Amino acid sequence: MKAIASTTTEVRGASVALPQWRRHEPIRSRASAAMPPPAPRPVGDLGVLLDSHGRTIRDLRLSLTDRCNFRCTYCMEPDVAFAPAGELLGASELVRLGRVAASLGIRKIRLTGGEPTLHPELLAIAAGLRDETCCEIALITNGSRGDRASVAAWRGAGIARVTVSLDSLREERFARLARARTPLAEVLACIRHAIEAGLGPVKVNAVLLRGENDDEAVAFADLARRLDVEVRFIEWMPLDSGHAWRQDRWVPAAETRAAIEAVHPLRPTEGDDPSATARTYRFADGAPGRVGFIAPISQPFCGACSRLRITADGKVRPCLFSTTEWDLRPLLRQGADDASLRRFLVDAAWSKQAGHGIESPRFEQPVRPMSAIGG
Ligand code: SAM
Ligand code: SF4
Repeated sequence: MKAIASTTTEVRGASVALPQWRRHEPIRSRASAAMPPPAPRPVGDLGVLLDSHGRTIRDLRLSLTDRCNFRCTYCMEPDVAFAPAGELLGASELVRLGRVAASLGIRKIRLTGGEPTLHPELLAIAAGLRDETCCEIALITNGSRGDRASVAAWRGAGIARVTVSLDSLREERFARLARARTPLAEVLACIRHAIEAGLGPVKVNAVLLRGENDDEAVAFADLARRLDVEVRFIEWMPLDSGHAWRQDRWVPAAETRAAIEAVHPLRPTEGDDPSATARTYRFADGAPGRVGFIAPISQPFCGACSRLRITADGKVRPCLFSTTEWDLRPLLRQGADDASLRRFLVDAAWSKQAGHGIESPRFEQPVRPMSAIGG
């Protein structure tokens, strides 16, 4: 596989050169500044979100912000560029999009970012989505703003499930990986508060990096057993803002699983949702908790993908790895009615690519990093 360098995007069917994504460079293509935003090919209002590969879209990842108070080494460079504030969708725009998406069969909305808990209107957005949709509302957070009162407020606003990301259980290593001032104890406390508040099954996401924290698989499995949570190991994907992803730095799920099995034998969980990102396992000795493996690189699960993403600045991304994204913001801000928004979402979903193509020699890392997409 070649080194990743993203230099093109597709605009109106043509490949357009883009600058390499760099610090201080707004997350916006020059192409889109120079011409009207491209729209997806119309397929008509199907009433549901389908793609041209036969998949039904049921899960929306709604990014509230591209900002974050952490700078995890595998995600954001310290001087990462952010979209101008005026380009971010407002709370009512986000709720409206959630409502329109729900009218097209979306059943689960995960609030993400950047760090969604930095959004000053997180509670209003969650409550709006609760009141205006029948969706399950989930939140993924770095756990830095999850004290007992905040977690209770999340629940009160309709958030039903919480995932906390945590990449090391060692204080110094955690600080080095997250490049954050938040003490590890606060993130662990957020996990406990989420469990106590009933925001479960609580999940903990960990990205293992070769030579940095890949010796902690068993420690994380022990955390799962101790707290009765699901710890999910995610293979590091080429979506970092620094474009530092390398083949020899991500840790295959099979290797992590083998390390855990050597200490705690595992049994596959029956009845995993085929469209779920993680394959999960229980502990063979009957201990509480689970481990899950999200293996987009070693075992791609694109064939069963049911997800669609809307970025904090209003771009629809049918795939994490889309190199084409569809700009909803002009429609929203020019007074489009719900029917137009529905058609736009249907058309965008239809354009979802078959797979991420990381294994292809022609793979190009998307210009937009994970933190500005919403994981
Ligand atoms: N800030 C929140 C958090 O960290 O949970 C939400 C956004 S973060 C982008 C969502 C998830 O994506 C986190 O679990 C994070 O570990 C994961 N992530 C970020 N960059 C990634 C990458 N390049 N490859 C794999 N996972 C990544
Ligand atoms: Fe922030 Fe989440 Fe990215 Fe870490 S993984 S830098 S917490 S957005």
